[in-house]
Amino acid sequence: MKPSAIAWHRAESLDAAAAILQDDVSAMPLAGGQSLVVMLGLRVTAAERLVGIAHLPELVGASEEAGLLRIGAGVTHAAIEDGRIPDATDGLLAHVASGIAYRAVRNLGTIGGSLALSDPAADWPVALLALEATVVTNTRRIPISTFLQGAYATPLEPGELIRAVEIPRFAPGTRWGAAKIARKVGAFADSLCVAVHRPGVAPRIALGATARGAVLLPAGTAEAIAAADPDADAFRRRCHLASVTRTLKRMEA
Ligand SMILES: Cc1cc2nc3c(=O)[nH]c(=O)nc-3n(C[C@H](O)[C@H](O)[C@H](O)COP(=O)(O)OP(=O)(O)OC[C@H]3O[C@@H](n4cnc5c(N)ncnc54)[C@H](O)[C@@H]3O)c2cc1C
Repeated sequence: MKPSAIAWHRAESLDAAAAILQDDVSAMPLAGGQSLVVMLGLRVTAAERLVGIAHLPELVGASEEAGLLRIGAGVTHAAIEDGRIPDATDGLLAHVASGIAYRAVRNLGTIGGSLALSDPAADWPVALLALEATVVTNTRRIPISTFLQGAYATPLEPGELIRAVEIPRFAPGTRWGAAKIARKVGAFADSLCVAVHRPGVAPRIALGATARGAVLLPAGTAEAIAAADPDADAFRRRCHLASVTRTLKRMEA
């Protein structure tokens, strides 16, 4: 199936993009297009106008200040995989990026697009939850645990665009683990887990591919895993148990 005819507008600035999206409810922002174009083709979503934002200088690049790494929403998975942004997380960001889909998708897909979509099995929401990130939009700052509201659900309002994500830099002694279970390389996860243990605070263990998307586990126990995805079938439960167990083993190694 082909998508219906759609008007195209390459935004001149983030403010201009936001103004168009605010005024026209049939318009949608387009970043890497790796999810949106597929969804339009399948007609699971509809738009009369696409507003291109991936090229905007406000969204590309990364910077570090005051112990925070700020990654522009338009930074691609490939740029993170290749280390084209500073590594403030001892390789965790590059590891997560390299496990997303395959290289052609990673070349175009963006961290902001992934967060905005909030596919329940996506990699970035889980990693950013474990990293205690902050989502910066054109109008406000939203802690990641508030931003992730469930499968495909976020608090983004019409005309609100993700500008960047901010991640607290790892202090010396910070440890991390990650494990993704998928039926084949490049596929979305059946389960994925990312854990970060910063010195002096309890580990943050995030589990993904649950019915609610990325969730924080209070502990890495079988009971906590079962409670995080209560309607999971036996296959999914075993995947969750394996991803959490592998993650914690890697973190503690
Ligand atoms: C074959 C295939 C396999 C994949 N496998 C994986 C996988 O294993 N793991 C994984 O995590 N992902 C996977 N993906 C998804 C991929 O990572 C996408 O790149 C990502 O989900 C969306 O990023 P994008 O930049 O392409 O966004 P787009 O497709 O352009 O947009 C996605 C949504 O976000 C909105 N949006 C985009 N940018 C912003 C912004 N800055 N502010 C507000 N809204 C915005 C758009 O309007 C749209 O609703 C896969 C995709 C494909 C095609």
